[in-house]
Amino acid sequence: MTGRLTILGLGPFGPDQTTPEAATALNEADEVFGYATYLARVTPRAGQKLHASDNREEIDRARAALVAASQGHRVVVVSSGDPGVFAMASAVFEAIDTGEPAWRSLDVVVLPGVTAMLAAAARFGAPFGHDFCAINLSDNLKPWSLIEQRLAAAAGAGFAMALYNPVSKARPSQLTAAFRLLSSHLAPETLVMFALAVGDKAHEHLQVSTLREAPEQQADMRTIVLIGTASTRSIERPSGRPFIYTLRHAL
Ligand code: SAH
Repeated sequence: MTGRLTILGLGPFGPDQTTPEAATALNEADEVFGYATYLARVTPRAGQKLHASDNREEIDRARAALVAASQGHRVVVVSSGDPGVFAMASAVFEAIDTGEPAWRSLDVVVLPGVTAMLAAAARFGAPFGHDFCAINLSDNLKPWSLIEQRLAAAAGAGFAMALYNPVSKARPSQLTAAFRLLSSHLAPETLVMFALAVGDKAHEHLQVSTLREAPEQQADMRTIVLIGTASTRSIERPSGRPFIYTLRHAL
């Protein structure tokens, strides 16, 4: 089999946050697969075919990409951020694991991207200077009870957290429920950071709050929420925009 399948992340938003390695692979592809919203960020070059699909069709999209690669095409599957973080890389490997034996011989490469939590953390300063974890608040692929269990365990263990997919139209109140649960493990003055549309100059919005006041803040599907720890500090500044950092040593 001569086809190649590259799974890459475009970064959080604009082309300046896409790695040169990913941009080169994208340019070399003749077939590009992805969720329509992410494909909208790709300007196809002449002769390149884009295959947009719905967000809920991950495995079908992965199989279609594998079929195209096994026909000899240079195929790219795109995700936003990093392709291995709540994104397409796992779906492609699951499709290989459960699909055609010949797919195991394909040349499959994963290229990393800047994931939302790291792009957001950099905007605030260095909230992830000590141990941290990422939790997806969507209960599309796991029960809410498991999300609660993981939030409680992470808070109990003193991890800073990045909460991906904090809300959607179908799940308007889960972020508030998450804050309520975290409040039983963390101090009310724990710093909570909201980063909306990082990298999108027209819409980016950053807000620093506390666990006490967090439920009053706005968040949507393009927001990532970062939760600090007892070692997370705010450096107030004349501009009103503080630097947030977490001590390199645990208290
Ligand atoms: N693979 C992606 C994550 C996909 S899950 C990555 O590595 O970043 C989608 C969630 O990521 C969104 O609901 C939001 O919580 C977060 N996200 C993605 N892009 C973002 C951005 N530019 N700004 C803030 N959050 C973002």
